[in-house]
Amino acid sequence: MALRFYNTLSQQVEEFAPANENTVRMYTCGPTVYDFAHIGNFRSFTFIDILRRALRSHGFALDHVMNITDVDDKIIRNAVAQHKSLEDYTAAYSRAFLQDCAALRLERPERLTPATEHIPDMVAAIQQLTAGQHTYTSDGSVYFRISTFPGYGKLSHNDFSGNLAGARVDLDEYEKADARDFALWKAPKEGEPAWQTAIGPGRPGWHIECSVMAIKYLGATLDIHAGGIDLVFPHHENEIAQSESLTGKPFSRFWLHAEFLMVEGQKMSKSLGNYYTLRDLLDRGYQPEAIRYLLASVPYRKQLNFTFDGLKSAATAIDRLRNLKLRLETDHFPEGANEQLSTRTKAAGKAFHDSLDDDLNTAEALAAVFEFVRDANSAMDSGEFRAGNAGEALGFLAQFDSIFDVLAPSARGHAIADAEVEARIGERAAAKKARDFARADQIREQLLEQGIILEDTKAGVRWKRK
Ligand SMILES: [Zn+2]
Repeated sequence: MALRFYNTLSQQVEEFAPANENTVRMYTCGPTVYDFAHIGNFRSFTFIDILRRALRSHGFALDHVMNITDVDDKIIRNAVAQHKSLEDYTAAYSRAFLQDCAALRLERPERLTPATEHIPDMVAAIQQLTAGQHTYTSDGSVYFRISTFPGYGKLSHNDFSGNLAGARVDLDEYEKADARDFALWKAPKEGEPAWQTAIGPGRPGWHIECSVMAIKYLGATLDIHAGGIDLVFPHHENEIAQSESLTGKPFSRFWLHAEFLMVEGQKMSKSLGNYYTLRDLLDRGYQPEAIRYLLASVPYRKQLNFTFDGLKSAATAIDRLRNLKLRLETDHFPEGANEQLSTRTKAAGKAFHDSLDDDLNTAEALAAVFEFVRDANSAMDSGEFRAGNAGEALGFLAQFDSIFDVLAPSARGHAIADAEVEARIGERAAAKKARDFARADQIREQLLEQGIILEDTKAGVRWKRK
């Protein structure tokens, strides 16, 4: 079956194939590296990962660009406050982001493009927009004049023909001719770092980064542009205005957006105390595979309610799958093949792929997988499962895992909670006191296997994670 996506631009489900030959040219908005990314961010990035894998399972090659926003107002504010250079401030969070992605098994895009490595490209694009009369300058900052782009609003389906005076659609504090207008280039305020360029000192606005890097690496018209739903307006609308004013061509054929993540039914926010980074959850001992599973299990266009019960259920679901795989690999089944079971396994595989083809319906895909798990387990228990069925059953699990990627336990998957580490250290101390040094050493070894390093000091035992 053909792959179909809901396109935010057309508001329709459309069949997807790349425009040129077999390679999908895709751009997704990456992180702003001013802090650790939170699980709402990772809901979007996990959706992108599932999208990548589904595209590849259709035999498409990928050329996927993701930006790293390593300059913006918040980064500058924080770096200046901490007396750090922008590079020093952002390098740590860029590294942390990539580690978090690896923990969640998110595939690395073909190109990761930091904004600060593309300043001359952005300056050239702003000059070109100025030559095309799309900009004006105010207090040294350059703005995009929205009234020069009649298609504004076509992605978010907002009608901007009415009076928008006073509406605040962009979070900056500069003088603008129209509330919708947005900064392409921001003049530095007192004490702020700036690039010295042909259009004056300053830094690029967020929107221009994405347009410039997308067009530079992927050409005027992308196959897919994707991100979180909060980016539709104004960010993606502004990207379209800039890009199409630059090239005169449609910017992207498909626009895909992932819905919000809620936590225990509420909007995630620091003030509600329900704000979690990935690191917060790993430090509490949750497996990254379970987090990945939970984030992937709800179709991307539905709101995802992240709950700790849901996280436990995800871990249980993964255990069931791993147990079946182990059984398939190690049990001895009677010779022969059960044809009916074989037919049902093939049907489960088809249902799995058909569900993903249907705008990445991961919930339906998982339903097909667990129907198969029940079927296979009961066939094993009743002796109807035959040696000849094992290969295709393992093949189906491998297909499932090529998309969901949760079957292999990760090193971080053994991460144990702080309280458990302390308890094990207590056991080790008791063993030492009882002069059971073999036992004490064994506990040290076991903790080391779980990534915990013990140091015996005069003040007692200190420990850290590898
Ligand atoms: Zn973007």
